[in-house]
Amino acid sequence: MQKKYGFPKISTGDLLRSAVERRTSLGKRAKRSMDKGFLVSDDIVISLVQERMEKADCRDGCLLDGFPRNLAQADALDKMDDGSSVIVIDIHLDEKEIIDRLSARRICSRCQTIYNLSISKPEHEGQCDACGGRLKQREDDQPEVIQERLRVYHDETEKLIGYYQEKGLYNRVDGHGDIETVFHRICDLMNHEFGKTNRPEAAR
Ligand code: AMP
Repeated sequence: MQKKYGFPKISTGDLLRSAVERRTSLGKRAKRSMDKGFLVSDDIVISLVQERMEKADCRDGCLLDGFPRNLAQADALDKMDDGSSVIVIDIHLDEKEIIDRLSARRICSRCQTIYNLSISKPEHEGQCDACGGRLKQREDDQPEVIQERLRVYHDETEKLIGYYQEKGLYNRVDGHGDIETVFHRICDLMNHEFGKTNRPEAAR
């Protein structure tokens, strides 16, 4: 998605995991919440996003992944952005599929490439195709943490549907199907919103 549209992707999960990896004091604070499936405090997440969005590569826009996750963060985002060209995309999946996908997810401990043991397996078990690094399961992809993350979603994040519907910015995309199919659905929506017509040949 970032290649096709030329916007950098800002994933708050990635920013937080990187701080945890580097054992910064922010990372240590964040890890306690992340391991349990809770949201990291708004002040930490908002300042990370704010700092990242101020970089030169975000001047023409960016893709926010995993942010905002509650009303306070949405409000903070409204203040960071003039709201003139925001496109909100909710990739929707039923709960069983979410649990199956998260449980089967593996991530390279070296280059962070993501695999799925059901739909995008590595060639050699436990080993990254791209760099040979060891594949691991995220702590928060354990079954009990997944349940907690879903509870947090229903308690906090789901409210954003109404929030963005009221602003006329909400779009839902069906997340069922393979990566390429979902990618094309998102591109169709983006192209419609941007008034663009070109479509990429492949998802990666
Ligand atoms: P993700 O990689 O988006 O699934 O996020 C992994 C974890 O990072 C979440 O379960 C939260 O603990 C934390 N996190 C990511 N994004 C946010 C956010 N916007 N607000 C609070 N916590 C977040």
